[in-house]
Amino acid sequence: MSLRRLWAVWRMPYIKLLATEAGKECIFCTLPAEGRDEENLILHRSEHCFIILNKYPYNPGHLMVAPYRHVASIEDLTEDEAKDMWRLIRLSMLTLRRAMNPEGFNVGANIGKAAGAGFEGHVHIHVVPRWNGDTNFMPVIGNTKVVSDALRNTYTELKKALSEVLEESGGS
Ligand SMILES: [Zn+2]
Repeated sequence: MSLRRLWAVWRMPYIKLLATEAGKECIFCTLPAEGRDEENLILHRSEHCFIILNKYPYNPGHLMVAPYRHVASIEDLTEDEAKDMWRLIRLSMLTLRRAMNPEGFNVGANIGKAAGAGFEGHVHIHVVPRWNGDTNFMPVIGNTKVVSDALRNTYTELKKALSEVLEESGGS
């Protein structure tokens, strides 16, 4: 199953989200500022960037890494922000490996509307775990309540795995 097809499965709710949230505030600015990390599915914060679980995942465990600063593209990041971003991408992958044992990853960013960016004003890197035959997720989990419970469970699982990874690496 190709990534294109996997993403297509998730296109409709995502497009609806974009339609309803068009013109609203930037979630990568507002959610970290609210200070309700668990509710907002923010998994980890570092000095310049944070990791957040995607509410409209392409796959379970779909994470996003973003800087706190509202900048549109990777080349707008300072050296420190860019380093921190790569550190959190790496941390996301280590966490997902520990918690969910994926067989592969898609890691990347859509920069600008032409490239398919949803929130085009605030750069974010997608970290999507992949398994062989992983598109079974959507047909099985077909309703909002179940998706929301699944997100909570995934959050708890990943939070635990992330703290174990940090403990073992001795970093923060
Ligand atoms: Zn923003």
